[in-house]
Amino acid sequence: MSLFEHKAYNQHEHVAFFQHKSSGLKAIIAIHNTNLGPSLGGCRMWPYSSSEEALTDVLRLSKGMSYKAAMANLKLGGGKSVIIGDPRKGKTDDMMLAMGDFVQSLGGKYICAEDSGISVDNLKVMARRTDYASGTEAKFRYDGGPADGNPAPSTAYGVFVGLKAAVRYKLNSDLRGITVAIQGLGHVGYRLAEHLHHEGAKLIVTDIFPDNLDKAVEQFGAKVVKPGEIHAVQADVFAPCALGAAINDDSIDNIKAGVIAGAANNQLAEDHHGDRLKDKGILYAPDYVINAGGVIDIYHQRMESSADNLRQHIEGIGDTLTDIFVRSAEENKATSSVANKMAEERFLSGC
Ligand code: NAD
Repeated sequence: MSLFEHKAYNQHEHVAFFQHKSSGLKAIIAIHNTNLGPSLGGCRMWPYSSSEEALTDVLRLSKGMSYKAAMANLKLGGGKSVIIGDPRKGKTDDMMLAMGDFVQSLGGKYICAEDSGISVDNLKVMARRTDYASGTEAKFRYDGGPADGNPAPSTAYGVFVGLKAAVRYKLNSDLRGITVAIQGLGHVGYRLAEHLHHEGAKLIVTDIFPDNLDKAVEQFGAKVVKPGEIHAVQADVFAPCALGAAINDDSIDNIKAGVIAGAANNQLAEDHHGDRLKDKGILYAPDYVINAGGVIDIYHQRMESSADNLRQHIEGIGDTLTDIFVRSAEENKATSSVANKMAEERFLSGC
């Protein structure tokens, strides 16, 4: 396995490997860039089929966090960690304690949060051994409601604010009577549906599990379609809120919406799909900009802040997106390329 030559290695500051024999922990921490501040990113536990696969994942994810933090105006860099293993089987407290030691050994250059396969309870165990575990407690919620540490409400609110800015820019309209097609009614998608319904939007929804669909029909009068149809329905906005790569070679020519604005990470299967969207006249809200509400929440929970400060910071997502849309039109470039360039300008200069 090559390391310095690895395609995803470029510009990483630090990659650390850790093995703890008695607990079975095998983990990698990747720190992409810390010019703006210590790196923050989730710890993912996944049964990777090889260490190469785990390395590729952690390098890509940590780089993505540098872009997300920079565009959210956070004094944070990009980092991520992965544990190689099946979260439903091999996870023990000993393993989480060893992971805490690993995080601590980097002296605060990496701050760990939740990701797939790692729960708040797992992080609380890590936090017994490290000062650099985030998302273990929440002091406030962006809307003043009871905080439980789940970043999804903040993420959903950020996506809602960003979607509204995109509709205002592209359609010169508020959300009343606008049709939004939501792919995936999970933690974020369902809350997004709630916000949109309250603002008078019409909803078309899908999920691979029926539970939330029935609720959305009852509570929001949503129309349900099959998972394979959602991207192609007649709607003003397509909101991918399930898995990555919703915009790909198979789906892109069938998208009828004029705006794409959703929570999912890595919505473009390939970079060139951003250019294709621009050529088709579809306004794309770059994923790591619109879905930054969760990381903004974690940031505020770590410092002396308040629900008001958090809410205002999340609402800034709308302005950031509008800047991207304006610059994309001025420079005749895809919104995804413009966002990448703006993020790089910020984290490479460190301000
Ligand atoms: P979730 O697992 O709670 O919800 C995802 C939903 O999508 C589930 O209900 C699932 O059944 C459904 N789904 C899966 N495959 C589908 C398919 N092919 N078609 C339709 N529905 C499908 O996850 P979440 O926390 O709501 O996150 C949603 C997306 O947003 C993910 O891509 C996640 O990485 C991203 N994201 C989440 C947060 C957060 O704070 N939770 C922050 C940033 C980004």
